[in-house]
Amino acid sequence: MAARVSAMPLASEERFRPNQFRHAASITTPGAYRDGRWHTFEPKAPVERTLLGRVFRLRPGLTFTPYANPTACNAHCSFCSEELLRIDADRLTAKRTIVDYDRYFAALDRAWRELAGFTMGLSLSGLEATSEPEWLLRLIDLMSAHPELFAERVLYSNGSGLATDRRLVTALGRGRFDRVELSRAHFDEKRNHRIMRFDLAQPIRRRAVFEETVGALRESGLEVRLVCILNDEGVSTIDEVERFLDDAARLGVERVVFRELSALGEIYRENRETRWIARHRASVRALMERVLPTERGAAEVENVCRDGWALEGVTAGYYYYNEVYRRGAIEVVLEGSSYVAHRDAVESGVLQKLVFHSSMELCGDWVPNAQVIGCYG
Ligand code: SF4
Repeated sequence: MAARVSAMPLASEERFRPNQFRHAASITTPGAYRDGRWHTFEPKAPVERTLLGRVFRLRPGLTFTPYANPTACNAHCSFCSEELLRIDADRLTAKRTIVDYDRYFAALDRAWRELAGFTMGLSLSGLEATSEPEWLLRLIDLMSAHPELFAERVLYSNGSGLATDRRLVTALGRGRFDRVELSRAHFDEKRNHRIMRFDLAQPIRRRAVFEETVGALRESGLEVRLVCILNDEGVSTIDEVERFLDDAARLGVERVVFRELSALGEIYRENRETRWIARHRASVRALMERVLPTERGAAEVENVCRDGWALEGVTAGYYYYNEVYRRGAIEVVLEGSSYVAHRDAVESGVLQKLVFHSSMELCGDWVPNAQVIGCYG
């Protein structure tokens, strides 16, 4: 059934609270949110914590990322954000793999002890966390020594290690992971490979193995979310989105995210990845307009969702904006984000994010020489 919303001017004081989900019934102007995007978010008040002897202000509910870097990545995505060097960065964490696991995990344990009592989300990303099973198994063991630290636990993965070592699937359950977000640019393995460029020895590059891996995760009780980066070599049109959703539905997947490549502004050095992103970017805003057209500037229009789609709500964070729809059994998220908004937020004097780099330095940024708290090694 088509969802109906009527367009009214957005009250200027209307803002998102942290983690707030605005239900479709309360949304009168999705177009106004689309235009406001990263300016619609009103953050929670910071709290003070002493870390390595200095006082820092932290945003409650932030996520902690142990930068997964046990090996170089076994894929080589054309758009890889880990290859993007910000102008103020002097190095990439991606280039320094974790060598001494004993020292690394002792340091991570020290950081987590200092953060005890400050509840966070665990966002396991960086390069590929499953590329070296022993690293992930040790990380999950260490998490069990800090059972209260993480309210939510999410693994972002290309699925490679989950396909070849089922111990990892079991361990994620043991580690109380809430979900796995699996990236896939296309269900057609040739088209996917053209974009994700897995090492040829990685079975996950084959469609059948990818589908079996999704099945194994689901059977183990883990929620699986598929993440498809929009680009004009893979999925970019509404027809391709719907084909992707039909394939996902066959696998029993209940959530799919279509994400536009993050806005880069002028804050990155030009390289192969920035050039690819500029050439192949596909607009999520254009897709939103195909799913739920809006008439900008009109005082009173009715917007009707595309057949088979229904708006569930919208949500925003400090650098992203989402519209959430339902199409059949699948919840579909259309997402846009801005690394410029992210950079501005992390420079605000309040830590919005914690990244534990492979150098054992804890930072409030993905850039290892920015927002440095200190080294726990
Ligand atoms: S899987 Fe992730 S880290 Fe690896 S190349 Fe692709 S985007 Fe980069």
